[in-house]
Amino acid sequence: MLPNNDVSSDRMTLRDLVIVGGGPAGAVCARMAAQNGLDVVLLEKESYPRKKPCGGALSQRTVNLLDLDLSSALENEITTAIIHSPSGQDIIRTANQIVGYTSSREKLDAFLIEKAMDAGAEVIENTRVVAVEHLRHAVRALAKGDSHKGRLLVGADGVNSIVAKRVGLREWNADEIAACIVADVSMNSDEVTNFMMRGDDDTLPLEIFLGVIGGGYGWVFPKANGISLGIGHRLDYEADLYGSWNVFINKLERERGISLDVSSKKGARIPMTSLDTRVTARRTMLIGDAAGIASSITGEGVYYSIQSGLIAAEVAEEVVRMKRPHHIAAYDHRLKKSIREELKAARFISRYLFKSEKNAELVCGLLEDDDRLAELAFEMVTGNRPATEIKNDLIKRMVRSHLLSMIKLAI
Ligand SMILES: Cc1cc2nc3c(=O)[nH]c(=O)nc-3n(C[C@H](O)[C@H](O)[C@H](O)COP(=O)(O)OP(=O)(O)OC[C@H]3O[C@@H](n4cnc5c(N)ncnc54)[C@H](O)[C@@H]3O)c2cc1C
Repeated sequence: MLPNNDVSSDRMTLRDLVIVGGGPAGAVCARMAAQNGLDVVLLEKESYPRKKPCGGALSQRTVNLLDLDLSSALENEITTAIIHSPSGQDIIRTANQIVGYTSSREKLDAFLIEKAMDAGAEVIENTRVVAVEHLRHAVRALAKGDSHKGRLLVGADGVNSIVAKRVGLREWNADEIAACIVADVSMNSDEVTNFMMRGDDDTLPLEIFLGVIGGGYGWVFPKANGISLGIGHRLDYEADLYGSWNVFINKLERERGISLDVSSKKGARIPMTSLDTRVTARRTMLIGDAAGIASSITGEGVYYSIQSGLIAAEVAEEVVRMKRPHHIAAYDHRLKKSIREELKAARFISRYLFKSEKNAELVCGLLEDDDRLAELAFEMVTGNRPATEIKNDLIKRMVRSHLLSMIKLAI
């Protein structure tokens, strides 16, 4: 629970910006908008610190987006990624510098909210928004027994966004959404070290398991007090999520000689669109998962959430300063310019990688044999290079050196 932030007694005061949802997208947007001089209120249904089902892996690129020292929320420094093929080959790649971190989402999200409050945003917890009304010169978010009116509204309320639904912006198609099961397993540091494989520099890696579920993958990430493990797959690929989860856990227990307490397991969804539809409606902008912008390859979404939150804050300031509500369309334009090609490239790559176990095995064989391809796969897993660049380099490499395999992957 946050300290009392002098909650306004007159809820019907017209604010510049009402933000619904206080994950990374909403918190970063609130902070930036308040820093830009806007009067901001953020409504969050939970109280902090709150749990969010997530692997918690952050690329260095994500951390670099913020002018903040995130160290209180970061847990392991990552230099290594290991990709396990369906047949059990291990492709290990270690960089000579930190490429990412694992984080505690509880700590990260609470930290970002605190920074938003420090910048002057009002944060109201335990407030679930249930409806949105467009008025003549404003927009209103309705919570139970309470409502908040703004010149602009931002929907930062995650994958099940009520704002997106209420303003008629989106419903997910099966090929735009991944279903996951994730568990945080408590372990002491010796147990984590014994459980996980190691990188060439003896650090703990991000471990990715291909072929454990159709249309997706499994993961094990190291944390300060245990591990995050999970599986996920895009819904247009037929797969038995719970059956695959059981097989995955049994396999890990058998191979690593430890019984895993996965009682914290939860189902969750990740939206992965190509950003082809609109993310603005009248005075409303969608950011983060509410806009459907995670990577189709890795499910990485925090980077895009922060990026969209920053762009929305910039546009909100311009709209309010210029008193031009129609200028909100600039958000749609700028967000797409910034990340749409990346999301499309990620979808393109994922189509071949996750198509079948045979494809996953073929890809792993190529990574074993070709150092350049392994390097590109490492960049993809750790999320430090735009997928557009990786896709271009992959195609060039495949055409030049693996034309036959390329054809096999496509058929
Ligand atoms: C299993 C899993 C693993 C993942 N692993 C990673 C990873 O390792 N790295 C990575 O970068 N990304 C990962 N992601 C994706 C990442 O978690 C999301 O992309 C990211 O959290 C999106 O941030 P957000 O702020 O848009 O939404 P969220 O973090 O979901 O925040 C939305 C907020 O809105 C609040 N809210 C919802 N409805 C309402 C309402 N009606 N009224 C008020 N408040 C409301 C919620 O309580 C929540 O606080 C993973 C996702 C899943 C499901």
